[in-house]
Order: sequence, then structure tokens, then C-alpha cells
Amino acid sequence: MTQVGIFGASGRMGTLLVQETQSDNDMELSSVYARDGMQELRARDLPVAGSVEEFLRSCACVIDFSSKEGSLELVRTAQNLGLYKPMVIGTTGLTQEDFTQIQTLAQHCPILYASNMSMGVAILAKISALVAKTLKDSDIEIVEYHHRHKKDAPSGTALTLAQVCAEARGLDLQKVRISGRDGIIGARSREEIGVMSVRGGDVVGKHNVGFYLDGEYIELSHNATNRLTFVKGAINALKWLISKPNGLYGIQDCL
Ligand code: NAD
Repeated sequence: MTQVGIFGASGRMGTLLVQETQSDNDMELSSVYARDGMQELRARDLPVAGSVEEFLRSCACVIDFSSKEGSLELVRTAQNLGLYKPMVIGTTGLTQEDFTQIQTLAQHCPILYASNMSMGVAILAKISALVAKTLKDSDIEIVEYHHRHKKDAPSGTALTLAQVCAEARGLDLQKVRISGRDGIIGARSREEIGVMSVRGGDVVGKHNVGFYLDGEYIELSHNATNRLTFVKGAINALKWLISKPNGLYGIQDCL
């Protein structure tokens, strides 16, 4: 039995991860931690850790769906105390600088980071790269839809999809990404990649990657209808990761 710690255990994702881990025959839930809702977690008789250090000491591997601040505290604590555990990180809204810290920790333990744990999105990314490269004159516009509570925008998944399209065309996404248009902005440039966000209701997650030409267009769309998709993806990713050498992996690696 693999002893798993869930970081961010009181959140929308964390709650489902706790349930799925508890009903998994290969896994034992050995520690949980969250910034909010600790009392509720204790009331449910879960193995609540009193600190990030205790959390890490009480498990053999970690699944983290928390926040930018939470993930960074987790990564820094593991690094500073030498508590190197295989980790699946699904938190979004991280910067390049944050990834540098994750990369440093990944020299000592295997870490899998994915802004989206669904198989369907991993395949969408592969197809999008192919279309971006093949239809090189098409205008690329990505639109993502999420529930009203989502804190970061554009979604990590939309940025990943934009990144693979930019890479397929040899472009620097930082220079060509447009997120929002307003006023007299002039004609669209050939190279720009639009990444737009819609927020509302309880939409779990929808991503639409459009390739627009004169006379025709292709739109590739992925809809997540249930968070369990991400939860099962994260648990499968962890099972795959625990026997891997140290290093930073992506969801494409475990397809
Ligand atoms: P949520 O707000 O419902 O839950 C966040 C959880 O993290 C809570 O338990 C909260 O207490 C905890 N937390 C926040 N800051 C913390 C800190 N500093 N220290 C310790 N714990 C902290 O959010 P959610 O909808 O569950 O999503 C969590 C993250 O996962 C977000 O970044 C979201 O975008 C991302 N997400 C990723 C995927 C994916 O497939 N990769 C899918 C869904 C959500």
C-alpha cells in the first residue's frame, strides 16, 4: 500500500481526491493538509497534519491541488528539510520562477506537473500542435470556460495549449499572446495567439482551440463534465510516477 498525502484536502479537488484515495485498494491516505477547513477535516477523522513539515513526514508521496502560495510552501519545505517525496502537482497559476523551484526539487525526487490531468486534454494538446504546424497560415484563438470561483486566468490548460501551438510554429508565446481585446485595436497580426477567458456558473472546464483560415476553420473542443476526470488522472499519474527516476515529468510522459 502506498501512503499518500493530499495537500489542499478541503478544496473542490482535494475533497474528491480524499474520497478516491480512501477507496483505492493500492493506496492508504496517510496525511492531509489545507489552509482552510482543518476543523472539518479533523471532524471527518482524517489524518490531519499540524504543519507542512508533519504532512511531508507522514506520507510516502504527495498529490497537491492547492494554490500558488500553498504549492510553493510545500516545495520549499520539502527542499529545505530534505523531505524528498514523489509529487503530483496540479495547482495552476504558477509563474516561470515558481517552476524553477519545482525543477530544483525535482533533482531529488520525481515530480509530475500538469495544468490539466485529463487524458482528453493531453490528446487535444498533441492534435493542436499538429494542426498549428500544418495549417501555418491559420489564426489561432483559444477560448476557455470555467466556473465562477476560479481564481487564475487564463487557465493553466489554455496557456499550455497556447504554448504547444507557439512551439509548433517556433514562436515565443510571451511575445505573441493576446488575452483580451477592447477599443480600436487595429487588424489582427498573423502571429498573435488569442487566449480568452469566460467565467460563470459551475462550468468544470471547457477549452476550444480554433484555427481560422479564409473560407474555412477548424475548432477542436474539450469539455470536462466532472472533476473526477482530473482526480482519476492525478491518481493514475502518481501510480505511474512513484517508480520513476528523479526529474520533472508532464502528463504526456505517462499517457
Ligand atoms: P479550492 O479553492 O476549492 O481548494 C484549494 C485548497 O487548497 C483548499 O483546501 C485550501 O485550503 C488549500 N490551500 C490554499 N492555499 C493554501 C496554502 N497556502 N497552504 C495550504 N493549503 C492551501 O480550489 P480547487 O478548485 O480544488 O483547485 C485547486 C487548484 O487546482 C487550483 O489551482 C486549480 O486551478 C487547480 N486545478 C487543476 C486541475 C488539473 O487538472 N491540473 C483541475 C482542477 C483544478
